[in-house]
Amino acid sequence: MDFSKYVYLDYAATTPMDPRVIEEIDRHFKETYGNSSSLHSFGQKAGKLLEQSRQTIADLINADRQDIIFTSSGTESDNMAITGVALQNMERGNHVITSSIEHHAVESPCKQWDKRGLEVTFLPVDKYGLISLEDLENGITDKTILISIMFANNEIGTIEPIKEIGAIAKKHNIIFHTDAVQAFGKIPIDVEEMNIDLLSASAHKIYGPKGIGLLYMRNKGIKMGIGKFIRPIMWGGGHEKDMRPSTVAVPLIAGFAKAIEIAKEEMVEETERQIKLRDKIIKWILENIEDSFLNGHPTQRLPNNANISFRYIEGESIVLDLDMEGIGVSTGSACSSKSLEPSHVLLAIGLKPEEAHGSMRATIGRFTTEDDIEYFLDKLPNVIERLRKMSPLKKGVKYMFDDASENSHHHE
Ligand code: PLP
Repeated sequence: MDFSKYVYLDYAATTPMDPRVIEEIDRHFKETYGNSSSLHSFGQKAGKLLEQSRQTIADLINADRQDIIFTSSGTESDNMAITGVALQNMERGNHVITSSIEHHAVESPCKQWDKRGLEVTFLPVDKYGLISLEDLENGITDKTILISIMFANNEIGTIEPIKEIGAIAKKHNIIFHTDAVQAFGKIPIDVEEMNIDLLSASAHKIYGPKGIGLLYMRNKGIKMGIGKFIRPIMWGGGHEKDMRPSTVAVPLIAGFAKAIEIAKEEMVEETERQIKLRDKIIKWILENIEDSFLNGHPTQRLPNNANISFRYIEGESIVLDLDMEGIGVSTGSACSSKSLEPSHVLLAIGLKPEEAHGSMRATIGRFTTEDDIEYFLDKLPNVIERLRKMSPLKKGVKYMFDDASENSHHHE
């Protein structure tokens, strides 16, 4: 396959690195490879770059530089948030509230601890993927130690009411974590205004390198009055204020900072451009391909996400057929796309399993052009038509998943 012509529409899974970031990382791997903990001047040079990078990144979310800890990924940050808070607060309480549409990086640690020390409430969401603030507040008990609600969903792009959730957490003196992996660098985030105590982010979703993430942890406003409210989940050397041992990946962090610098500079213009392209995709498909519908909120969604279900076909076959046309999209989230289980997010917003299976996520980014979208929309209808002809799922046919009361056995 000629990948130079490939139309990549899977930016939510990961992004290519921006060439400006590659240049920065390359330079620092060559010039600034000292261990940031070493006392000699070469180590100090790396240490200085580390702190400058930390400052640039902290500024993006109005955080104190001291409150940013670097990790290896969004997954590690999420695990640290859930497990670290649980370990530290056992005596205070054991109840955690999260949503039913979290990424597996939050969902799985919650499930690991659920009934093994923690009690976890998974809040339902409405048809758009929004949690209810009323449900949240009603779910709080005197044992609740943590609320973990994602900033924006990776599959359907819905943006949760983070500021309102933060206000509720603050009112009840509960730690608030948000998985902002998909929102960070794309939409404005202010940890002060939004009362966020813990926030996870990852560089590879915003044109930075793979293998570097961060956890913001509020320290100056320790709400619990019991010292640190989170404990490390790895132990070793004293890096990152004892929160995350192992030699710090300074060149990657410098690349993360460069990615943030660019994101900050270009955010307003780029958001506007992406929203136009996104809405063009959505509008065109809904108008031109019958039996298709949008998943997620029509407006309260990430600027780069279009998630659409096509009735009577399977998402996997859409992905494979489009790939043969030189277009890369995904079905559900990249991490679960190898499993045959329908997406838990799409089921949570009320889709039937066969509707969830027929979903396609197209996510655009900095390097997506109008021409890319034209090409995609040119190829898509034929793919859908061909698959529908072959599909055992047909209009008017009753499926095993259907509610028995909707019995309609006529074939088309
Ligand atoms: N959280 C969300 C919402 C994500 O979309 C992802 C990546 O798919 C992650 C967490 C995991 O991030 P990482 O790939 O850096 O481990």
